[in-house]
Amino acid sequence: MTTALTPGQQALLESELRLARQRTLAALQAQRDGSDRLAHAAALLQDDPQEHEPERELDQARGEHLLAELQALDDALMRLKTPGYGRCIDCGAVIPFDRLQHQPQALRCVACQADAEARR
Ligand SMILES: [Zn+2]
Repeated sequence: MTTALTPGQQALLESELRLARQRTLAALQAQRDGSDRLAHAAALLQDDPQEHEPERELDQARGEHLLAELQALDDALMRLKTPGYGRCIDCGAVIPFDRLQHQPQALRCVACQADAEARR
């Protein structure tokens, strides 16, 4: 199984992955700062912490989403160097380069991704 990418394409995807990783890290950081501020403000106002439960849960969900994304990007950065990168994990088809450009962390071809999402 060989990779379908040229070294130039691979380098391009690598820099995109690194950029996306930085953006996700920054978002995660901003989100953490935000929830710290929220907790701090609540403490200052001596608000009932119960009242902020929905916000906190939303924050947490967003944080988890960002963490999962970071994980996927890290994963893709590692896979980028392996021959399996750029191939669908389900059917083994080559994932088109323009799909990878938009989503370098994509694990599946469009058809299998749609299938996987329908199954969820
Ligand atoms: Zn597939």
